[in-house]
Amino acid sequence: MAVVGSGPAGFYAAESLLRNTEVPVEVDVFDRLPTPYGLVRGGVAPDHPKIKSVARVLERTAERPAFRFLGNVKLGRDLFVEELRSHYHQVVYATGNEADRRLGIPGEGIPGSTPATVFVGWYNGHPDYRPARIRLDAERAAVIGNGNVAVDSARILMRTPAELAATDMPAYAREALAASRVREVWLLGRRGPAQAAFTPQELGELVDLADTDLIVDPSDLELDPASEAEVAASPQKQKNLALLRNAAARGPTGKGRVVHLRFCVSPSALVADASGSLCALTLERNRLEVLPDGSVASQPTGETETLEVGLALSAIGYAADPIPGVPFDERARLVANVEGRVFDPGTGRVVPNEYVVGWARTGARGLIGSHRTGSAEVVARMLDDWKGGTDGHRELPPREEIDVRLARRGVPVVGFSDWKRLDEVEVARGALRGAPRDKIADVQAMLDLLGDGA
Ligand code: NAP
Repeated sequence: MAVVGSGPAGFYAAESLLRNTEVPVEVDVFDRLPTPYGLVRGGVAPDHPKIKSVARVLERTAERPAFRFLGNVKLGRDLFVEELRSHYHQVVYATGNEADRRLGIPGEGIPGSTPATVFVGWYNGHPDYRPARIRLDAERAAVIGNGNVAVDSARILMRTPAELAATDMPAYAREALAASRVREVWLLGRRGPAQAAFTPQELGELVDLADTDLIVDPSDLELDPASEAEVAASPQKQKNLALLRNAAARGPTGKGRVVHLRFCVSPSALVADASGSLCALTLERNRLEVLPDGSVASQPTGETETLEVGLALSAIGYAADPIPGVPFDERARLVANVEGRVFDPGTGRVVPNEYVVGWARTGARGLIGSHRTGSAEVVARMLDDWKGGTDGHRELPPREEIDVRLARRGVPVVGFSDWKRLDEVEVARGALRGAPRDKIADVQAMLDLLGDGA
C-alpha cells in the first residue's frame, strides 16, 4: 500500500494497515518534505509542545518492519499517480489542506496582509514559508477569523521573547518576533461570541498571556435568543462565554499589550497607504440573522468603520490542493470521495483501490486524535474491498522498483533513519538553548546535512 502524506492522518492509516491481522501488508509512506508528521511539525503552534508530542506515538508505527518512509518525494514532480497505481495494490491520499481560503475583498494580498497559513508555516519553520515576509513593524495588527488558527496567530504575536525561546521555533522567527513592534491585536469575528469556533482551552491561553490583556466589550456578550440557545446546547460554548464574561468584567489591567476581541464585523476592504502597503481595514458591521434551518448567519448592516492596522492575518480556514490525476470536489475543495473511497463525479463511480483520509477527506476540522478513528474507518473499508475484490490482487513489480525509479530520476529520497539523524541534530541544537528542538527550515540544508546518506 502507498500512503501519500506523512501527517497524522497518513500515519494513522499506516498504523491501522500494519496492525491488521487479516491481510499481510507493506506500507510505503511518501512525503514531499524530508521530514515526517505534517501538521504536527508545520502547523501545531510551537508553544503547544504537548500536542506536538503525538509525534512520539506516530514514530512507533515507523518502527514496524513493514513500514517505509520515502521523504523528499513529491507527487507530480518526482513520482506520478499512474506509477503509484501500478506499483501498489491500494493508494491512500493523506495530503491534508495546504491551501488557504480567501476573503475575496479589495486589497487582499497587499504588503502587510498575509493568510495566517503563511504566518503559521513561517513561525513553524516550514520550508515553503521560510522566505515569507511578515510585517512586524506596525503597532497594530488584525487577525480575521474566530477559529483556533486565529487564536494561535494572536497568541504567537503576543508571546514574550523568553516564552518563544523555550519553543522549537526557528531562530529567524524568534528574532523577528522579539523585535516586533506589534502592541495591539484585533481579533475579528464575523458572527457573535456564541458562534465563535475557537475552543475554551485556546481562549483561556489568551486570557493568561504574560504581558497582554484580553479586552472584550461587555455589550458584545449580550446574546439574542438564537445565540442563547446555541450556548445552552454546548458546554464548550458555555465555557467560552464564561471566559469572555470574566475578561469583560476585569477590563484592562495595564499589562502593556492588548488583544481586543471584536464580534459581528467583516472586513470589506484592505486599504493601502501611498507606498502601497496596508494601513487600514474597512470594517462593516454585521447583524445576526436566524436562517430557516435554525443556523445563525451574519448579514451586513451597511455601517462601516476604519481600523488602522499595519498587519492583517486572515485565518478563515484551509482547503485542499487538487492532486493531478485524482478527482477533486471543487466546491468543497477536497479529494472527491464517498466515505473515504475516492469517487469520480464524472463517471459517478468509485475509483478502485484509491482512498483518502484526514483533512484532504473531511476539510480542516477535527482535532488530531479524531483522525485516528477516521483513518481506521477508511482502512477497514480498504481491507473489506481487498477481501471482496479481485483487482487488488494484481501482481506488482518488486517493492524496490520504486526506489530504482526515484534514483534514476536523481531524487534524494530521505528514509526514516535519515530523518532520525536530522531529528537528533535539531534536538541537540535546541538543547543548547533549553528548547525541545531547533528546527532546520531549509530542505537543501537538510539534504546537505545528510550528505550521501540521503
Ligand atoms: P475554523 O475553526 O473553521 O475557523 C474559521 C473561522 O473563520 C471561523 O470563525 C469562521 O467564521 C471564519 N470565517 C470563515 N470565512 C470567513 C470570512 N469570509 N470572513 C470572516 N470570517 C470568516 O478554522 P481554523 O481556525 O483554520 O482551524 C481549522 C481546524 O484546526 C479546526 O478544527 C481547529 O479547531 C483546528 N485547530 C486546533 C488547534 C488547537 O487545538 N490548538 C489549533 C489550530 C487549529 P464562521 O464561523 O462565521 O464561518
